[in-house]
Amino acid sequence: MPANFLDLHIVDFCQLDCKHCYLNKGSSIMPLEMLISICTDFLQTDFPLPRNTLILSGGEPLLHPDFIEACNIMRRLTVV
Ligand code: SF4
Repeated sequence: MPANFLDLHIVDFCQLDCKHCYLNKGSSIMPLEMLISICTDFLQTDFPLPRNTLILSGGEPLLHPDFIEACNIMRRLTVV
């Protein structure tokens, strides 16, 4: 089913070095307050499609120092 989706690049670094990598690597980490604000705004927006999907991406999102908390926040925001 088609959905509105939000792809959040929560870090801009990665432990790998793929030849096809599109990433301009750095050392940025998205603060959790920013993640909450962006997700809340997205989920409150009245899009034409009936379903929303949130994606944690990067870089390697598992390298975010608060990855588990980020998942818990997104779960809390999306549970109705
Ligand atoms: S961000 Fe993706 S494409 Fe780039 S090095 Fe990491 S795994 Fe490879």
